[in-house]
Amino acid sequence: MSASARIIRGRVLSFRDDPAIAGAAALSAIEDGAVLVSAGMIEAVGEARDILGRAPEGAIVDDHTGSLVMAGLIDAHVHYSQTQVIGSYGAQLLDWLQNYTFVEEQKFADPAHCARVADFFLDELFRSGTTTAMVYCTVHPQSVDAFFAAAEARNARMIAGKVMMDRDAPEALMDTAESGYDESRALIERWSGRGRLDYAITPRFAVTSTKAQLEAAGALAREFPRCYVQTHANENKAEIARVAELHPDAKSYIDVYARAGLTGPRAVFGHCIHLHDSEIAELVATQSIAAFCPTSNLFLGSGLFDEARLSRSGVRIALATDVGGGTSYSMLHTAAEGYKVLQLNHQSWPALHAFYRMTLGNARALSLDDRIGSIEVGKEADLVVLDPQATPALAHRMETAGGDLEVELFALMMMGDDRAVRQTYVAGEPRKT
Ligand SMILES: [Zn+2]
Repeated sequence: MSASARIIRGRVLSFRDDPAIAGAAALSAIEDGAVLVSAGMIEAVGEARDILGRAPEGAIVDDHTGSLVMAGLIDAHVHYSQTQVIGSYGAQLLDWLQNYTFVEEQKFADPAHCARVADFFLDELFRSGTTTAMVYCTVHPQSVDAFFAAAEARNARMIAGKVMMDRDAPEALMDTAESGYDESRALIERWSGRGRLDYAITPRFAVTSTKAQLEAAGALAREFPRCYVQTHANENKAEIARVAELHPDAKSYIDVYARAGLTGPRAVFGHCIHLHDSEIAELVATQSIAAFCPTSNLFLGSGLFDEARLSRSGVRIALATDVGGGTSYSMLHTAAEGYKVLQLNHQSWPALHAFYRMTLGNARALSLDDRIGSIEVGKEADLVVLDPQATPALAHRMETAGGDLEVELFALMMMGDDRAVRQTYVAGEPRKT
């Protein structure tokens, strides 16, 4: 056994299944548990006394007794280029893009700026307990190179891609159908499947891509079936009206993507708030994923995600921050806002469902559940340690939790953020700075 072995002790919580289907049995909980990690992988999990009793010589023991050890959190839709426009005042989607995002993203022509922001972004994810994300870069290939290089240096499991835009954007942020294809292809050949990295073909949305560019993106998806697809859909009513003008042949917004070959089990559509029944049917038939981005949807006034309708219909759902339209890097805070969105829809979201979504649920949505999303032998050692007593207000609240784990998790989700993250392990290495 190598000297890199590490034992992480705490209350080990891990999902085996979806609690919406399996109930409380979906969660495995070991009150005084431990996880043995070595060479980036989970080697053993069990009662602390057993794991400590067979600790390899020289193993480091990180004692987080009292805190929760869970699989690292997963963010299914986020823009690393928007870390300096997060919290920009007063606009809805299309104006927000023009006034803030498209100005900010022009800075990513400079590779040094890309590298600096990529470093900040990844460190901030880890501070928030997020170990995997599906990330939009900018139109510049160097923004993708910088992001993947920073992720590789941290041995983090990340998915990302170059934004494609050949219409309705500043000249400096536009590619063409052909150059978008060529640049994406070169990036795929450089990064897809390298170490823990995967590529997402990334046409921003059907407003800023012509039919020719969407078809080029669809061609890439056919040629590189390992790659993901990420884009935005049905976020805002003015956006939807604009898509109908620009793509008069399509039956609906989702149909624009379906016609281009961009739907499928590795395609993640951000938002999906205002969907027709036919669009839901298309998402279900193709096993496409809808990304629920509650802080963004509230911040930009886009609308309320109808979780119950999509779940009942069989749409695969992921949870995401959508920074910088979203206002927090924290998946805990994101889940708290998700709960409030569902409240406004008269729907419920128990804590177990939300924590499942942040971990194994999102891993399943991204087809990564054979590698991450739960604490099991043979999975990658991406873990988060959450302290339910992290702040005076949390500690005070927990006095009345009465030892009920679901009460505790719900309060942690509603009141927690990066302050509740005691440590984040990426491939077995502590990374919270
Ligand atoms: Zn987005």
